[in-house]
Amino acid sequence: MSEPINPPVVSAIGLTKVFHDFWNRPKAKAVNDIDFEVHEGEVIGLLGPNGSGKSTTVKMILGLLYPDAGQLSVFGKSPRAVDTKLEIGYLPEDSYLYKYLTAEETLDFFGSLFNLSRAERKMRIEQLLDMVGLTHARNRRVGEFSKGMARRIGLAQAMINDPALLILDEPTSGLDPLGCREVKDLIKMLKKRGKTVIVTSHLLSDIEDVCDRVIILYGGKIRAMGTLNELLEVSNENRITTPELKPEVMNHILSILRENLHGEEFVVDHPRRSLEEFFLDVINKAKADSVETAGVVSGGRIADYLADPDNKDALLDKLIQPDLPTVAAEKQRAEEEAARKAAEDKQRKLDNALDQLTRDEKAAPTQSNAEKIAENVAEADEKLSSLLGNDKK
Ligand code: ADP
Repeated sequence: MSEPINPPVVSAIGLTKVFHDFWNRPKAKAVNDIDFEVHEGEVIGLLGPNGSGKSTTVKMILGLLYPDAGQLSVFGKSPRAVDTKLEIGYLPEDSYLYKYLTAEETLDFFGSLFNLSRAERKMRIEQLLDMVGLTHARNRRVGEFSKGMARRIGLAQAMINDPALLILDEPTSGLDPLGCREVKDLIKMLKKRGKTVIVTSHLLSDIEDVCDRVIILYGGKIRAMGTLNELLEVSNENRITTPELKPEVMNHILSILRENLHGEEFVVDHPRRSLEEFFLDVINKAKADSVETAGVVSGGRIADYLADPDNKDALLDKLIQPDLPTVAAEKQRAEEEAARKAAEDKQRKLDNALDQLTRDEKAAPTQSNAEKIAENVAEADEKLSSLLGNDKK
């Protein structure tokens, strides 16, 4: 018996969206009669220059815009159906986070929109903050976040409901190469978990690393679609990669090639690593040698509730070990967490001290009171200096 084929996660036939001007005259065919399908477990890259129709397509999949023509279904239903929306996680291009909420409150708010219980929210928030490397910033307002941190909290927010389909709009924008790599590893992990991911990006190398298929849009039309192999393979040329060859073997091969290619040119060279690979290698080595960095905190631990329930350990091991300098990163993170706690401790003691001073405003603090305050502050200071070590000037 043949395997049942799941219906596509997204199916678009003749999908069209026309924007109208103030007088309701058709202004722009933002999406013009496009057909595509996205299948379960696929990572699809939606590419195109600005104005090519990517956001309009995404907004129609999210049920935020209504198509003018054609059919569009998500999980076999209308994108506007409430239960369809529950299955979708979305990271918008621009940060739309409420700047006065802390990282933790932000995730708690989105968790409550999905009716997650308080206990479930607490558990997921812990794991997601750890995964995106923001545990240390959990109590900071997101309005103070750098662009990279805002992307990370946005990603955590998109995953709070453990959705089957994730739509990530420019997920690596604003991230440094380490952050980009972590996001790409995260996307690969989501794929292994059976999630379907649609990524839009203008950073083509990012798409190339993670996508099974790409759709290239221009002027609202699909100009190319296929797997990276189908689109990028130069099928009328060959490349053979071997371990380093002895000169006599190389000469022998070259003479065979000359004999058979009848004057046609050929190239013999050494394979080259990508700049990203090289960069990450340099940084990882530096980290392993405990070279101090400017306080980068790596995430990368996959939230347990997102991990493969049947093969959790193997999956986590595989994902975490090859790329991330976990020991150095963990050590650094622990040190930073301890320093943060000490700083908070000091602040609390200072606050207490101030409280006492204000309470005793009319009467000057007694000798023992003043001594106690000074003692508290000195103790916190000492703890902080020992934790910060040489960093403290
Ligand atoms: P992309 O996401 O690839 O940059 P968009 O989907 O945002 O492209 O835009 C596609 C086209 O539709 C552009 O020409 C854009 O100007 C137009 N467009 C997008 N949104 C609107 C809108 N709300 N009103 C009028 N025109 C729009």
